[in-house]
Amino acid sequence: MSNFVKSSKKAYVRTYGCKQNFADSEKITGLLTTLGYEIIQTVGDISDMETADLILLNTCAVRENAEQRVFGNVGALKNLKRANPDLLIILCGCMTQQEHTAERFKVKFPFIDAIIGTNILGVLPEIIKQADSEKEKKQKGAIIKITQAGGVFDEEIKPLRNSGGEFSACVPIMNGCDNFCTYCVVPLVRGREVSRLAENIINEVRGLIAEGRKDILLLGQNVNSYGRGSDTDFKKLLSELDKLGGEFIIDYMTSHPKDCKKELIDLIAQSLNISRHLHLPVQSGSNRILKLMNRGYTREEYIELAMYAKEKIPEISLTTDILVGFPGETYEDFKETLDLVENIGFDSAYTFVYSKREGTRSAEMNDPVPSGEKSAWFKELLELQNKIGEISYNRFTGKTLRVFCLGKGRSNPELLTGKSKQGIIVDFEGDQKLLGKFVDVKITKALPWALIGELTYEKYK
Ligand code: SAH
Ligand code: SF4
Repeated sequence: MSNFVKSSKKAYVRTYGCKQNFADSEKITGLLTTLGYEIIQTVGDISDMETADLILLNTCAVRENAEQRVFGNVGALKNLKRANPDLLIILCGCMTQQEHTAERFKVKFPFIDAIIGTNILGVLPEIIKQADSEKEKKQKGAIIKITQAGGVFDEEIKPLRNSGGEFSACVPIMNGCDNFCTYCVVPLVRGREVSRLAENIINEVRGLIAEGRKDILLLGQNVNSYGRGSDTDFKKLLSELDKLGGEFIIDYMTSHPKDCKKELIDLIAQSLNISRHLHLPVQSGSNRILKLMNRGYTREEYIELAMYAKEKIPEISLTTDILVGFPGETYEDFKETLDLVENIGFDSAYTFVYSKREGTRSAEMNDPVPSGEKSAWFKELLELQNKIGEISYNRFTGKTLRVFCLGKGRSNPELLTGKSKQGIIVDFEGDQKLLGKFVDVKITKALPWALIGELTYEKYK
């Protein structure tokens, strides 16, 4: 790769949305480093951007409020650009993959230099070069270069791991989505499913463990369809990873209830290093709505799977995503979601009010329920889940959990914080030298979002 940018240049990369986007940004910053950029910031506020020569915003389109935030933040860059006309502003990610949004950016914010969609890595060096050499044209609006979403994985570019802590790492195992849930824009902006070669994933994870990053999160929109069409699958991948020597945690998301099979749960139950956290988005408890959403499973099938997981892995932590106010949903449908939530007892749930996304099938559906009513349902669900979440961690009180030490305490900086094999945050008193190590912690108190405990052995103290 040519090294055409002076090493004194600084790049600010801001990421919106899901972990997949953060993982993409780690590749982008890895690439920018090879182009000679110093990375000054990857999380945080616009106020950190003043010294940047390049500002790149990696956007999210999954809900309208995420988009509004990006529009607001881009608008605020106008003054920076006025103060420094040499500043390059580039937008990429899911919002920009959609032509109508890319055009809207171009028209509304003529000071943007380039707009490049989700297939970023192949075009970024060329776009920076072009935008840099066409400074006088900048006022005429952005260069738009959006290639087809999806495609092969770029194994050449090493990610700059800057979005998690020192001992954690995200590892994408696939990209895109073939499921076409009717509310979701992801398949439209991320393209068809492509899986990484198992060999590349295993080598990457082996390297991460060797460098002490033992808290690993495998990423995919539907990890259960990993390897589809080839002779490998997610179960085989997990089984291989579990066997890499030593102690570590392999977490993964997102599981899709239609493709997550009991055999996979059996494998996890027997494994040493696979996380006991299962994030299994249910979206709705109503069969009528699940069908309209094109989710591919029934309420009964979901409950059976969740109960099987609880039975096989008694210490499992089950979490979910729920969408409230899908077009045509009635209060009766919604009550079925409340009932399911009460029955299953999730440790936590990410809850969202339906947001209409252009290009999706649900955008064409009749949506008669006023937003005020949807908000009231949403509040009702939140209250119920908060009540359940508040007591659900009590089941760990008095138990001893294996915990990977990650950093300073979240509830109190005097403490250490770690992650249990159920993916739960555990705070406890201990020496900094335990960071990056596994310890046994006896749980003394449960909070709604974390556990408090004490080290069990004198040797740790
Ligand atoms: N692939 C994952 C997650 C995709 S997006 C899965 O299948 O579960 C993350 C979450 O955002 C979804 O689970 C869904 O609850 C929510 N979401 C997706 N599209 C949405 C929309 N149009 N409005 C509101 N929430 C949405
Ligand atoms: Fe969206 Fe459904 Fe694919 Fe998840 S599985 S990314 S919700 S289309």
